Amino acid sequence: MAYQSTNPYTGKTDRSFPEIGDAELEAKLQAAQACYLNDWRKRSMAERQAVLARAAGLMREQAQELGALATAEMGKLIAQSVGEVKLCAAILDYYAQNAESFLAPERLSTARGAAMIESSPVGVLFGVQPWNFPYYQVARFAAPNLMAGNTVLLKHASIVPQCALAFERVLREAGAPDGAFTNLFLSKDQVARVIDDPRVRGVALTGSEGAGAVVAGRAGGQLKKSTLELGGSDALIVLDDADLDKAVKQAVTGRMGNAGQACTASKRIIVVEALADRFLEKFQAALQTFTPGDPMDPQTTLAPLSSAEALKKLAEQVDEALAHGARAVLGGKPVEGQAGSFMQPTILVDVRQDNPVYHQEFFGPVALFFRVPDEAAAIALANDSPFGLGGSVFTQDIARGRRVASQIDTGMVFINSAAVSLPDLPFGGVKNSGYGRELAAAGIQEFVNRKLVLVL
Ligand code: NAP
Repeated sequence: MAYQSTNPYTGKTDRSFPEIGDAELEAKLQAAQACYLNDWRKRSMAERQAVLARAAGLMREQAQELGALATAEMGKLIAQSVGEVKLCAAILDYYAQNAESFLAPERLSTARGAAMIESSPVGVLFGVQPWNFPYYQVARFAAPNLMAGNTVLLKHASIVPQCALAFERVLREAGAPDGAFTNLFLSKDQVARVIDDPRVRGVALTGSEGAGAVVAGRAGGQLKKSTLELGGSDALIVLDDADLDKAVKQAVTGRMGNAGQACTASKRIIVVEALADRFLEKFQAALQTFTPGDPMDPQTTLAPLSSAEALKKLAEQVDEALAHGARAVLGGKPVEGQAGSFMQPTILVDVRQDNPVYHQEFFGPVALFFRVPDEAAAIALANDSPFGLGGSVFTQDIARGRRVASQIDTGMVFINSAAVSLPDLPFGGVKNSGYGRELAAAGIQEFVNRKLVLVL
């Protein structure tokens, strides 16, 4: 069966779910459309706010249970799973509290008449989401759009079906009507049909470039708007005046969080020559302390990757890097003698431009380490990527940090920190990392009709 919960620590498949039948899919599409037309878009902001705020409360109450489900399905360390659930609650609350002001009518100053921009919902939306943050990715699409009055269909990654069902259940328990938020276990063909369906008015995908191209291409063919949150290979730049210990600590968090399976992970560590040796020594020592174990055990520091296939892919990518001249100064292989899909924390050096992996995203605990002569070379290397999602700059001179940040071609730059995501900060990228923004005020503007109403 296509949708399966397989624990990446034990290797055991817990539950399987069949793909939805076509008749049931049609009924769910009808329900989403009917809910949009007859109920959800007609509700007041206060009524929608009440549902989202209750859902946030339920997520906080059930944080342990929901977190354990994510850990069981995709292997994340339990503390990080629980943290993710709480972040989702914060996102739901944030939009419950702020949607009304974000979408308030705007008066325009115009030469003739009285002009207003009124924001109204557009209809049923379709979100295709990845497994790596199985609740957060869904929350940042669903929360703003539900508050805007749209209804939401979800196609979640096939390895986290129980997280998908849990998210739907929480919203139903919070009072969301039938059709407001609907999980669908879809085949790839059905994904295409849902995109084509005239009732569906917009499509959002978070995932890989390949999936993004397929889904957004389909949406474009139907003249429908899409947003894409795709991969990244974020640079973490350490300049000569950086606080070294802070930079190392943040690089460790940035590369190792979620076992390295984050779009905004610090995948390329770029350090100027003056600090390179000392940085590498400390970074290596810190990564060495990560120990594999049961991700449900709060003492465990290294989580398994999300699946045996993910481990195989990452290990092959490292092998390819090594075969083309890179060196592993730490790790480089799957963890042996240990159940579960664990990759050794790995640092690769000498990854040169002609290495086939040079432009690739490493989705796991593998850092590419580069030494550069100066700031200009650091910026040039950071921008030498097909991706443009995030990035970090470490310097004690904040004005310098800002100057460097403005030269980095990404959607987000963090000065003296690894990437963070908070409800009130816009999230998204440029280049092959996609287009559109999620979270903050920007996130609720993607799928609303900003309608001009002019009185003459
Ligand atoms: P993925 O394989 O692209 O899967 C993402 C979603 O797309 C899943 O629901 C998947 O369903 C679906 N999908 C894949 N191919 C499809 C197709 N041809 N037609 C329709 N749906 C399709 O990505 P992943 O490996 O799960 O996630 C990791 C990627 O996501 C990384 O590149 C990461 O950087 C990126 N990501 C980006 C952000 C961001 O905000 N920019 C955040 C998180 C992750 P199945 O599971 O059924 O294949």
